[in-house]
Amino acid sequence: AKESGRGTTRIFDAAMSQKVCARQDLKRDLAFALEKGELRLVYQPIRDLGSGRIATAEALLRWRHPEKGEVSPVDFIPLAEETGLINAIGEWVLEAACRQAAHWPADVSVAINISPVQFRSDTFPMKVAAALARSRLAPARLELEITESVLLADSEHNMRILHDLKAIGVRISLDDFGTGYSSLSYLRLFPFSKLKLDRCFVSDIGRSAQSEAIVRAVADMGHALSMMTTAEGVETSGQLDWLRANGWSQAQGYLIGRPAEADVFGALVAPSGLR
Ligand code: C2E
Ligand code: CA
Ligand code: CA
Ligand code: CA
Repeated sequence: AKESGRGTTRIFDAAMSQKVCARQDLKRDLAFALEKGELRLVYQPIRDLGSGRIATAEALLRWRHPEKGEVSPVDFIPLAEETGLINAIGEWVLEAACRQAAHWPADVSVAINISPVQFRSDTFPMKVAAALARSRLAPARLELEITESVLLADSEHNMRILHDLKAIGVRISLDDFGTGYSSLSYLRLFPFSKLKLDRCFVSDIGRSAQSEAIVRAVADMGHALSMMTTAEGVETSGQLDWLRANGWSQAQGYLIGRPAEADVFGALVAPSGLR
């Protein structure tokens, strides 16, 4: 028993250290990914259910690693947050998304994801204002998506940052709504422009009466609080019909469109496009 115990430990250690090494490798490579031009943004269309038009695109980071191929943001964003590199990457995202969106019709906005780490910097609102000025993008066409974890930590500081951003005229969305511990309490703290319901609820439509009751109630609440409501992860026309019938203002998901390269999304919303 002792022998196998030790053997197990050794295998476990080897697997662990391999994992740690892979993380260290990725961390090191990520430091150069920006300057080597390995990062890019793809744009996922978000449909307005009232007008039926594409109203927004969510900018999503992609990293094409020279050896490993495409690395998911789920894997490299946490590393960037640990190393602080997320500040430089986040600034690049902000600049690139504004520059891109400035070429789209004026009724199409762009949404970017903001890491809680970016909020620690007092200069973040200034950087947003500078990116808007440089790209000449109207502030109302930029949406910043944050999760409740932003408000969880040092809420007083972060609240001030949020209000500074609102004063600039950008819109703030509460992302992944429903997945945290206290989503509801955050709605009292700050007047969000939009809430985005996590896709785990959407996938339950047609399967769980309980989930449907929640999704219906969230739309009603959003409406009562003058917020736009976006349902994420819409994959079937059944889900889309249900969401439209139950008062949701926007839908995002593979049914509407997969994240697309910048030129492809640009063509989609161009005056001659198929929007
Ligand atoms: P998120 O903000 O919740 O973004 C939505 C994710 O859902 C994206 O994954 C998108 O590709 C995926 N998705 C969209 N529609 C569907 C669908 O119908 N079905 C399914 N199964 N998935 C769908 P992605 O691109 O892998 O991004 C994952 C997460 O990485 C994002 O989640 C966000 O938290 C983070 N992320 C991405 N880009 C950035 C960025 O520029 N900055 C920061 N800080 N985080 C980012
Ligand atoms: Ca998001
Ligand atoms: Ca989300
Ligand atoms: Ca998420």
